Amino acid sequence: MIDQPLPAVSFQGVTRRYGAVTAVSDVSLDIAQGEFFALLGSSGSGKTTLLMLLAGFDSPTEGRVMMSGTCVSEVPPHRRQIGVVFQNYALFPHLTAAENVAYPLKMRNVGRAEREERVKAALSLVNLTERGASYPSQMSGGQQQRVALARALVFGPSLLLMDEPLGALDRRLRDQMQLELKRIQGELGITVIYVTHDQSEAMAMANRIGIMAHGKLLQVDDPETIYARPSNHFAARFLGECSILKVKPNSDGRGYTLAGKRLALPSPAQGIFDIVVRPENVSLRAATGPLLDEVPGVPATVRDITYLGSGWRVTVVLPDGQTLLSTIIRGDEVASYLAPGRPVIAHWPPQAVALLPVEGSS
Ligand code: ADP
Ligand code: MG
Repeated sequence: MIDQPLPAVSFQGVTRRYGAVTAVSDVSLDIAQGEFFALLGSSGSGKTTLLMLLAGFDSPTEGRVMMSGTCVSEVPPHRRQIGVVFQNYALFPHLTAAENVAYPLKMRNVGRAEREERVKAALSLVNLTERGASYPSQMSGGQQQRVALARALVFGPSLLLMDEPLGALDRRLRDQMQLELKRIQGELGITVIYVTHDQSEAMAMANRIGIMAHGKLLQVDDPETIYARPSNHFAARFLGECSILKVKPNSDGRGYTLAGKRLALPSPAQGIFDIVVRPENVSLRAATGPLLDEVPGVPATVRDITYLGSGWRVTVVLPDGQTLLSTIIRGDEVASYLAPGRPVIAHWPPQAVALLPVEGSS
């Protein structure tokens, strides 16, 4: 057997209950050294609780948390070498930026000269070299969040936890901070666990994404896989627009029937399933004559059209009443034909389809 490097973090069957509420339910997850891991889920799904269990501010009801192969249940938070950044920066208002950043070093009894050196380096890392003497109230939200980041990194942690750190910033500042965070992570080679409810943020930043719902980890994969091959309804819906369709599997296991048409699967499958298809993979054509069996695609009727700038999002209705989304790019010749009520043929390649367990059957 080849020795695998020990994961930076390992949750092993971790559950946290608060009375009748199960905030985190049997989570097992390994995070590799140097990974940028995003925990993605809506409010109340258990993301913060999982981070707090790792940071040591809370303890699991069941299971254990390991760091680099060692169980940390007996290790107090300040000995875990973890930097934490919260959404509400939690800066000390009566301390300057430099004093805020110096705080964790003071707590660790780092001498004055080394402290000054490290504070300078941390402020420079977040591009705030000139603002060390400013108080939080004199800084913008983005700058305050940079101070919080410098404070989390100044003592050289091996792991950085960020809990919705950009949630309070406007869109433009967030995009800019996302790039900076990636740069800083690359420079330091540090492991990052990043909590967000924003799927585009998770996709833009993470090597891997873990989707959480109701305290459970539903799927863990790289962004491309989660997007193209979601493993259940929730994951499919959470990561971008999609259409989930009820279909009748063909008995040969090679395809399915939808709207009276037999369509191919990317690979053979047994049993019952729903299918999911992303709007950018669905093309539309004008349906002029009768729809022959040989013509690929299913008949549908345009319901509505939304202008997106780069093109249009078109909702069509299948004969059985199910709706399907299609994105039409500017320049597609079908665009001038599309209008509510018009008949179309909707088509997607077999590889664009992912199979989902039928909801409730799991
Ligand atoms: P998220 O960060 O994904 O929004 P949380 O981890 O904060 O979710 O919360 C998960 C669930 O656990 C929620 O239902 C929340 O109300 C509950 N919860 C969290 N902390 C506590 C606590 N200290 N006492 C009781 N319930 C809690
Ligand atoms: Mg939270």
